[in-house]
Amino acid sequence: MNFNIDADKSTTYDAIVIGSGISGGWAAKELCEKGLKTLVLERGGMVEHVKDYPTSMTNIWEFEHRLRDTKEDLQKNPIVNRCYAYSEATQHFFVKDEQHPYIQEKPFDWIRGYQVGGKSLLWARQTQRWSEYEFEAPARDGFAVDWPIRYKDIAPWYSHVERFAGISGNKDNIKNLPDGEFLPAWELNCVEKHIQSAVKKHYQDRQVIIGRCAHLTKPNEIHAKQGRGQCQARSLCERGCPFGGYFSSNSSTLPWAAKTGKLTIRPNSVVHSIIYDEKLNKASGVRVIDTITKESIDYKARIIFVNAAALNSNLILLNSISNRFPNGLGNDSGVLGQYIAFHQYRGQGGATFEGYTDKYYYGRRPTSAFMASFRNVEKQETDFQRGYMLAFSAGRGSWQRGSQPEAFGADFKESLTHPGDTWSVYIQMQGETIPKKENHVRLSKDKTDAWGIPQLVTSIGYDENDHKMMKDFHVQASEMLEKAGCKNINMFDSKQNPGLDIHEMGGVRMGKDPKTSLLNEWNQLHACKNVFVTDGSCMTSIGNQNPSLTFMALTARAANYAVSELKKKNL
Ligand SMILES: Cc1cc2nc3c(=O)[nH]c(=O)nc-3n(C[C@H](O)[C@H](O)[C@H](O)COP(=O)(O)OP(=O)(O)OC[C@H]3O[C@@H](n4cnc5c(N)ncnc54)[C@H](O)[C@@H]3O)c2cc1C
Repeated sequence: MNFNIDADKSTTYDAIVIGSGISGGWAAKELCEKGLKTLVLERGGMVEHVKDYPTSMTNIWEFEHRLRDTKEDLQKNPIVNRCYAYSEATQHFFVKDEQHPYIQEKPFDWIRGYQVGGKSLLWARQTQRWSEYEFEAPARDGFAVDWPIRYKDIAPWYSHVERFAGISGNKDNIKNLPDGEFLPAWELNCVEKHIQSAVKKHYQDRQVIIGRCAHLTKPNEIHAKQGRGQCQARSLCERGCPFGGYFSSNSSTLPWAAKTGKLTIRPNSVVHSIIYDEKLNKASGVRVIDTITKESIDYKARIIFVNAAALNSNLILLNSISNRFPNGLGNDSGVLGQYIAFHQYRGQGGATFEGYTDKYYYGRRPTSAFMASFRNVEKQETDFQRGYMLAFSAGRGSWQRGSQPEAFGADFKESLTHPGDTWSVYIQMQGETIPKKENHVRLSKDKTDAWGIPQLVTSIGYDENDHKMMKDFHVQASEMLEKAGCKNINMFDSKQNPGLDIHEMGGVRMGKDPKTSLLNEWNQLHACKNVFVTDGSCMTSIGNQNPSLTFMALTARAANYAVSELKKKNL
């Protein structure tokens, strides 16, 4: 793979993409395929597919601490340590908290992966389309502003990205979870199927499905061309998959873009700001600080894609100050940094299931059972706004259940060859939160980071709506589990901070009116048309679905529009 990382020789490109994660990878692919000489600027170091996955084949017992957290690491990196995917096997793909400070006005766990590929290496790969109901929500329910697009505008782009990324799933025919272009689905196990039929029997508005996810269950020709192979059901995904079994920028979009010969990636390059040319009334390029030499370098391009992930894209725009835009690039409306939202996962629960003790399952399936939101879908019905998805899985104990220090001997070893006695069920919500002006980010006036860039202040919290929604989940989930015959049902509030969901969105929202939004229907800054913002920061509202598939589709759509506008000389 030739990423052409020797970028110093040239400082002028057709396009610059800021960030190389899920959305930046898509921007790079689409722009390069259309013939644009494209520079991807990435603040983190290079991660090459396969070569830079140091733990992808390591067994638990080969790790120094057997994947347990060390006291020292917990003290130094308390925030990333709260993420379920952080461990001795994956910590090299997460930031070190101490090196990347930010100011939490309210508790907010900002989980970041600064490297080529960004969080695409780490994500849980759950991928659901939005439906018309999500695009209509702000207008119908009277919050945020109306989306400038509807489902029909994005549907072909969902298909476009699904075919390339490879999404497994069933055509389930659910009105608020549209079907896509699917590879064969994973299968529910016997207890999940049992719960599925109980739900079908007792509820007309609810349907249990197998999760749709970005895994190659049966690769197509387009995946083989990317050099990717079938998912091996190892479920060691967050370490980087040497088979390319799940979608990441590193295994898919970036090497594809590189093959065109049009791509240059410059790692170790923190974007400081976007440069605005007051004479031309457009952005002329990007200011970068080399993290190794600390040198400041300006790169020029005709169009700029901002894909640094939601909060960092807010930061970059807020830090892009000029006479024309004293409050941040494109920020005539004053709403830049505001109306941030996130998914709430506080509602969780567990249960046991007796029976099926003669049944087991094989392989480590990389997804779980899901249920589309059944609250307030067609109209407002509850005392809270919007709804939640629900995910659950059932499993039997593994050999690790017996690893107490006092356990040893032949009987103990023999007992580990049998699965646990009972099945356990774990269930959780993924709730939509309402974007609000007071949930915002801004720049610190006096604190900077290691590169002299102002630190981000996060002021993002839960509200009464979130509490009511969690309570509803607790009641509904436990009722469903009870009807399915589960025992020992225990619902709880994880009390986790906003941010730990890692689905933060908003701050640079799309909208029809430049007075109340930053971006138009093509993700272009209303007031600076050659800058496109297509990561989660563009989200006007956030739905209840996992968001990254929507970022991919919006990015591909905007990139194709940008190229057509360039051809027409409109940019
Ligand atoms: C453990 C985990 C599980 C997740 N599960 C799911 C899931 O199941 N489904 C789902 O839809 N989403 C999931 N997500 C979220 C998903 O990873 C993100 O939505 C997605 O990666 C966002 O894409 P992005 O391009 O906006 O950001 P990223 O993928 O984070 O990429 C942003 C890139 O920009 C770079 N960058 C930042 N600032 C600068 C700067 N100033 N200059 C240069 N470069 C910069 C970063 O280093 C990074 O490489 C999960 C995330 C995690 C960590």
